[in-house]
Amino acid sequence: MRMKEVLISEEKIQSRVAEMAAELKHEYEGKNPLILCVLKGSLIFTADLVRKMDIPLEIDFIQVSSYGNGTTSSGEPVLKKVPSIDLKDRHVIVVEDILDTGATLRFLMKKLIEMQPASLKLCTFIDKPERRKVQIEADYVGYKIPNCFIVGYGLDCAEQFRGLPYIGILEEDE
Ligand code: 5GP
Ligand code: MG
Repeated sequence: MRMKEVLISEEKIQSRVAEMAAELKHEYEGKNPLILCVLKGSLIFTADLVRKMDIPLEIDFIQVSSYGNGTTSSGEPVLKKVPSIDLKDRHVIVVEDILDTGATLRFLMKKLIEMQPASLKLCTFIDKPERRKVQIEADYVGYKIPNCFIVGYGLDCAEQFRGLPYIGILEEDE
């Protein structure tokens, strides 16, 4: 598959990440926030964000799969990896790559609230508001984009393209 166009350049990504990091630094300084990276897509965004935040913080990982037991794709999300750090009374920031229909994140946020954090906020680099099927809004959004399938900056197509430093749109299949 070939790249059709660059939607968000590396320069634009890095300057927006710096703005978001500055905002988070301002709000979370002195709170030792727990950054929850949602695997695998937000690995790269999380790594850039925390390096620009420049305050004491902790990082942990969580993974949600959209499929049940593998044979039947029920569409019901399942927690594949839970955080190893206790969320209770912590200021938790969930860091996501993209907010699409919202089903995954609504499920995830519900699970995390049960773990009784002191506060829980959602930070997503990309938001596709037109695609939303369930009610959920992110507290911090990098870029809002129209309805299209993107890759790069952590986002994959069949596990490829995650390492691209920019976000692009692939050529349609013939
Ligand atoms: P949701 O539950 O919000 O529909 O699903 C979000 C997940 O779908 C994301 O974490 C991501 O894995 C995948 N996804 C949604 N839109 C895109 C896209 O444009 N490109 C890629 N690569 N993945 C997407
Ligand atoms: Mg994802």
